[in-house]
Amino acid sequence: MRELVLAVDLGATKILTGIVSIDGAILGRSRVPTPGDNPDGALNMIADSARELIRVYEIREQEITGIAVATPGPLAFPEGVVKDSPNLGWGEVEFRKEMSRRFGRPVIVEKDTNMAAIGEHRYGRYSNCQELLYITVSTGVGAGIITSGKLYRGRSGGAGEFGHMVIEAGGARCNCGRRGCMEALASGSSISRHLDEMFKQGSGQGILACTASGVKPGARELGRAARQGDQEARSMIARLAEYLGIGIANMVNVLNPEAVVLGGGVMLGLKDLLLQPVQEYVFRHTFALNREHLALDCTELGDDVVLYGCVAAVLENRC
Ligand SMILES: [Zn+2]
Repeated sequence: MRELVLAVDLGATKILTGIVSIDGAILGRSRVPTPGDNPDGALNMIADSARELIRVYEIREQEITGIAVATPGPLAFPEGVVKDSPNLGWGEVEFRKEMSRRFGRPVIVEKDTNMAAIGEHRYGRYSNCQELLYITVSTGVGAGIITSGKLYRGRSGGAGEFGHMVIEAGGARCNCGRRGCMEALASGSSISRHLDEMFKQGSGQGILACTASGVKPGARELGRAARQGDQEARSMIARLAEYLGIGIANMVNVLNPEAVVLGGGVMLGLKDLLLQPVQEYVFRHTFALNREHLALDCTELGDDVVLYGCVAAVLENRC
């Protein structure tokens, strides 16, 4: 009999659901927008899209070895309670309990960045690294830390909030209430905000010219404009790279990882345009000892890294 995992990546803007076999083959996936009204709407939507996927791919109940759901943080561990999530706009939600109730069986719940880190660690290019840092640069920014081959959650599950490391004292206001956080300076939402301001002032025309009609410009359009030589796009990317470089260099000096793997929509949208200057910055601004064995790279697992993490979480829970 097939052994399958029902894997869900709940994001601020979309819910990605996948049926993945335990050897890492994705049999089917679906993507729906995250309902913005309330937690109940999102929880029901997760259960509905999972049921739909099971129906469409004719999966039998007994083939499902486990269910795992990734959610934006902060997420209390081991309770599985979402607490004041700035990206979801939720207060306190008993996420694991509510998910398990809707599915009628135990559900593994983990913060999305942690899920991505364990997915990268099991299925990615650096699976042999015992000290691995996964960083997502998407609507939000976050990190998952693998140390001695195990996920590091800290005392209460709060470790890895890389997006709320202050990079610029007194800088742009962040959704968390502080100023100058990484997420306020180098994320999908900061790019959107910056572009809106530029367009209001009549600049950024080269970026607009690279944007299909009806599409809100973001990292991909920025990348396209930069590749065509647009100076405004290039200087925006240079600034993003510097902020990310500062943050990653701090993490490399604190944690001394063997691999730092980058993913998320902004990173995957810009690829080498962002990766290369970040690498240069980090290798210039870290201690020789810390960078000696360091690999700094993009994930090869793309948007599915969290789904792979869900499978890894189910396998880890089983043994
Ligand atoms: Zn913040």
